[in-house]
Order: sequence, then C-alpha cells, then structure tokens
Amino acid sequence: MPSPAHTAISGPLSYACERPLAPGTLVRVPLGRSEVLGVVWSCAAQPPANVPAASLRSITADLSGLAPLSAAWRQLVEFTARYYQRGLGEVAVAALPPALRSLDAEQLQRRLRRRAAAAHDTTAASPRRGTADSEPPPLSAQQQAALAQIDAEPGPFLLFGATGSGKTEVYLRSAQALLERDASAQALVLVPEINLTPQLEARFSARFAPRWGDDAVVSLHSAMTPAQRLRAWLLAHEGRARIVLGTRLAVFASLPRLGLIVVDEEHDPSYRQQEGARYSARDLALYRGRLEQAKVILGSATPSIESWYHSRPGGRYRRIDMPERIGAAPQAQVRRIDMSHQPRGAVLSPPLVEAIAERVRRGEQSLLLLNRRGYAPVLHCPDCGWKSDCPHCSAHQVFHKIDRTLRCHHCGFTQRVPRACPSCGNLDIAALGRGTERLEEHLAERLADVRRPDGQPPRILRIDADSTRAQGALEAALDQVHAGQIDVLVGTQMVAKGHDFRRITLVAAVNPDGALFSSDFRAAERLFALLVQAAGRAGRAGESGPLGQPAPSEMWVQTFHPAHPLFEALRRYDYPAFAESELAERQAAQLPPFGHQALLRAEARSQEAAQAFLTAAAARAQAEIPEYAAGVTLYGAVPQTIARVARVERAQLLVESASRRALQAFLAAWRPWLLELRAQPEHRAVIRWAIDVDPPSI
Ligand code: ADP
Ligand code: ZN
Ligand code: ZN
Repeated sequence: MPSPAHTAISGPLSYACERPLAPGTLVRVPLGRSEVLGVVWSCAAQPPANVPAASLRSITADLSGLAPLSAAWRQLVEFTARYYQRGLGEVAVAALPPALRSLDAEQLQRRLRRRAAAAHDTTAASPRRGTADSEPPPLSAQQQAALAQIDAEPGPFLLFGATGSGKTEVYLRSAQALLERDASAQALVLVPEINLTPQLEARFSARFAPRWGDDAVVSLHSAMTPAQRLRAWLLAHEGRARIVLGTRLAVFASLPRLGLIVVDEEHDPSYRQQEGARYSARDLALYRGRLEQAKVILGSATPSIESWYHSRPGGRYRRIDMPERIGAAPQAQVRRIDMSHQPRGAVLSPPLVEAIAERVRRGEQSLLLLNRRGYAPVLHCPDCGWKSDCPHCSAHQVFHKIDRTLRCHHCGFTQRVPRACPSCGNLDIAALGRGTERLEEHLAERLADVRRPDGQPPRILRIDADSTRAQGALEAALDQVHAGQIDVLVGTQMVAKGHDFRRITLVAAVNPDGALFSSDFRAAERLFALLVQAAGRAGRAGESGPLGQPAPSEMWVQTFHPAHPLFEALRRYDYPAFAESELAERQAAQLPPFGHQALLRAEARSQEAAQAFLTAAAARAQAEIPEYAAGVTLYGAVPQTIARVARVERAQLLVESASRRALQAFLAAWRPWLLELRAQPEHRAVIRWAIDVDPPSI
C-alpha cells in the first residue's frame, strides 16, 4: 500500500493482514508512532522477498465497508505520481477527502450505516436548488451541430465558443444524453473557481434533480466542510451521484461509471495545483478520459495555447466552433485609450471618467479592473529612498489604507503603517503606484458631482480578496451588484470570472500593460483570456442610448501600447490570430507545446545553499545518468522570481527537452540521485526540494 505524504518514501509499504484484501481497499495502518489511512495497492500470500516477515507490522483495521477504489482510479493516481514525480502515497492520500483520513474504522462504519438509512429517507437534506428553469431551451443550430459531433466522435473535444454562446447548455445536454443512454453512467464537470460552483450546481440540479433525484448532482471543492465533502465523495463513489461538479481536486473523485468529463474554462490557471503534488487537473482529465473511455470536452472562449495547438486540423483534439452568442447580443465594443496622449500620471483618462459618469447618469453599471489589491504596492520616502520592503521576503509590503497596515502578500507579515520614515524620520512618506483601494478612492473623487437617475451620488463597490475575506461577503457583494444597488464595481480579476452581470455596460482594464512585456511567456495568454472574459461580463446593450437607440456595451483598455498585436486581436475578438502569433513565438523559442519543461526547485536558508544543491544535482545527472541527461538541456541554477519568502531562499533549475518522453525518462532516473544528494551532509541546509513538471511559469 502506498505511503502517506512523506517525500522520502516513494513506493508502497508492506503490511501484514489476516485475510486477503482486494486492491483499492482502504485500511488504517501504523506508521512510526501514528496511525494513518492507506490504500491496498496489491495483496500477496507471501511477504515480499526483501522484507523479513518478522519486521512486518499488521494493518490496524480494514475499511472494507467501503467498496475498494477502482483499478482505473488507482491507475490515475499511479500516473499522477509518476508523471509529476511525487510519492504514490502522497498523491493517493491527497486524492481522498480529508475526512476519510481522520475517521477511524468505527467512525466510518457508523457514518456508512447512517447513510444507508438516510438513502431510504427521501426527505434527506437536498442540495441547493436554483431558480434556473428546468425546461431546456430549444438548441441553437450551432449547439445542435456541436452535440451531434460530440455524439458521433470519440474526442477529446475543444469546444471553442464565445462567452455566452451556450457552451454550458452543451455540457448539460451531453450529460443528459449520457444519463439517458446509460442508467448508471456518471459525468464529471470541472470548473476553475469555487465561487462558480453554486451557480453551476443550481443550473445542473434544476435540470437533473427532478428526474434523477436530489442526490444526482453533487459538488466537490475545498471550501466545503469535511463532512459535506465526505458525503459528496461517498455519493460519487457509490455511484449514486450521477454528476459531480467540482474544482481541480474533483479530477480524483472516485467515479466507478465515469462516461463524460467536462473541463470548463480549460485555459484557467487555477486548474494547476500549485502546492504539494503539483498537477494540472486539465491534463489529468484528458488522461483519465482516455483511461476510462470517457468523452472529454474542454471548453473555452480563449483556450490555452497548448489546447489550441492540439486542436489544429489533424491534431489530437477535435475543435468545435461556436462563434455566435445566444440572442445575437453583440460583443462589447473594444476601445483602446492611448495613455501617452492623456494628462501625465492620469490613473483614469478623462474620456473614461466621462464614459463612466455617463453610465451612472443612465442608471447603468461599470466594472473597473485592476489586478492589484491594497492601496499602493509600496510606500517610499522621497528623502532617503526607504521603501516598505518586507523584512522576510524579497518583496515590498503593500500599503492597505483601510486598516493602516503594511502587509506582505507573500508571507502575510503585517505591520502598522509608520508615522514617519523609519530610516530618516521624514514625515512625508508617499504611496507609490496604485491598487484597488486607491482606485476606489480616486474614482469617488472624480465622480463626486455625478448623480444617479434617482438624484443620489454614485455607489462604488470594491471586490477583491481583501473585501471578500469574510464568509459570504462575496455573495453579498454580488447580490448588491445584481440588484442594481451598485453603479461602479472596482475589482481584481476575481470579478472577471464567470459572474453574469446583466446591467454592466462598460468594462475597463485600468492598467493591463504589465503583462505585455513580462518575462513569463504565458503572461500575454493570461491577459488576453482575462480581457475577453472581462468583456464578456458586459451584459446586453444599454437600455437607453442617445436617440433612443440601445447603446452598445464597451470594453475600454487604457494602454501606452494601443497598437500592440494583443490589443489589435482583442479589438476584433480574434483569438485565432492571437493564438497563431503566440504559437509562432513559442515555436521559435522551443517553448511549450513545442518543447517540454520541468523545474527543479530547492529551498534553503541561504541562496548559496539552495543553488549549490541544484548545481550538484545537475552534475550528478551528467556523471551518473549521462544517457538520460543527453536527452535534455539542463540550465544553470537561478534564484526564483521572488527569491526569498518568509526568510527562506528559493532557487530553481530549468530542464528542457523537445521530447516529453525523454524529459520523463530523465526525471525518473534523476529522482533517486536527488534523494541521495539531499541526504549528503553538505546539503543539510536544504529545507526541501521538488520537481515541478510542466510548470505554469518559469
Ligand atoms: P457560455 O457557457 O458559452 O458562456 P451559456 O451556456 O451560459 O454560455 O449560455 C449563455 C446564456 O444563454 C445563458 O443564460 C443560457 O441560459 C442561455 N442559453 C443557452 N443556450 C440557449 C438556447 N439554446 N436558447 C436560449 N437560451 C440559451
Ligand atoms: Zn527616509
Ligand atoms: Zn513577506
């Protein structure tokens, strides 16, 4: 059975048991001084030759009240561990709901008995029901064509559909067709954001609960309580839940009859797990689909460059186009404002302020996007040059005016704002740059004389990670927006995702230029996706334009580079053109999807120690596994972008190969040498190391 999360143990451990246990059975086993959850990986009549029978410990309990995890599930876990270079046990245990890890055998049996009783009780707690209509709308021609193709071909499919083109309806119908065809089949629908699951659950429940029962649709995400998550997980594992909606972790849900996997907004970076066992849920969904012969639909208006490439004619995926929006509502019209022609230092250009004021007077809403929370990213003393650097990180502490704190967004270190410069005593310390708090304040000043149709001053609401920290705060804020109580919404990218704001007729990107010249090769792709998604937040045309005509919605972009190809492509909503130019650049630089990457990361108390480990690791590779090292390029050790976080120095080393297979073979051969190296006394200063396969950024 696989070991728990413990980097030094990479394979299954052996235990004795009284009777044969089926692979996939959950057990409790002793490990050191504690007792942990394990999964039986294989069961043999004799102990393995290399383990003396006397040293074998016995399992504490088997949780065989629960059906064993399927062979396919175990294969998915095995693949994940192998591909992402993690311990099998670490992945297996992380893939199970946390409550399973903490319940002992007796508690679990009790839970299962209670569930069996509740299964016959139809008044059991029902999932949140939405207000969405349960009557499916007649399909548009392009939805029909998409569904016909999905039905006829094996996939995987890339459903390339504009925002509002009715992709979700295609998912619903695909799932419905599956459930109607097969009385036990299950569908898995992945969404990027926890915040989007209630909305989607309402839509799916409204459609499926009347016919398939209240337990037919369940959600799985990390904001659920352990008990809720266990309940949903068990429903899926028992095959009673027919549709599982979830965030990235749901890709590991136990689904014995999986027939369909949907990955909505497949390009979204949150499908990537960034801690512990780092994996891409999108990529694992594709693997799982192949493994279990489940159809896979990736959906997006702005696919990842990789998926776009794979969906080229003759590629691995089938591309399905849905260019038209339902109801023929036009896309928001893109307007670029050249900031070099605006008053120097202007945060909001005068024409944009006027356009927002105009919306306020008409009773319409505007959305301003700025991807930086807090008041200002740094405080600074003009006299001596002091800056609000975090003492523990190589980053500035962000000035939050609301509670007068300086906060590090990397380690969380928080201080009161100093009254005077801590270094020279100057009383005039200044805020440099701007975040959402400052934008909100600035906007209120600029709109001070504007009135809503009811004669009231404009109402501005800020939505970002700070304003929505409290439980339910985001929902409350969104309700206010939907109810029309808000005139201008200021927020970070979290407001750009998914939420449907019918009354917003103007969206503005305040300062998107940073991503244009970023050293991160995926920055442009992310910006393009964000802007298209943000533009999609603008609802229908305004109610009452000049001359009684409906005014079109607008997407404003403030930039110093209005002629940049990214904005040119955005103006025409020409994702294919954008993607083609990105692909040409990637090909020239041999970046993904043309080349494959992995990072070896190391953390230590000093940058020297972290880099020394990486350098030694590269030397080991050349000396010990030259035949594998020949298939890859090993770069030098460098500090990570933010080199120091919470007093820990971080360094990385890039490994590249034109062949994924060669890269994988190299990493597998390299890993034992890394373990060996880490055990050497001269690398004692290394706190931890990890391999990051297909890193989202380098
Ligand atoms: P997407 O997922 O592509 O952004 P949705 O599936 O959410 O689009 O559809 C956008 C809107 O259009 C939703 O309000 C949905 O209820 C509605 N809709 C989808 N398909 C149809 C249809 N065939 N007829 C009428 N309305 C539809
Ligand atoms: Zn000073
Ligand atoms: Zn810090």
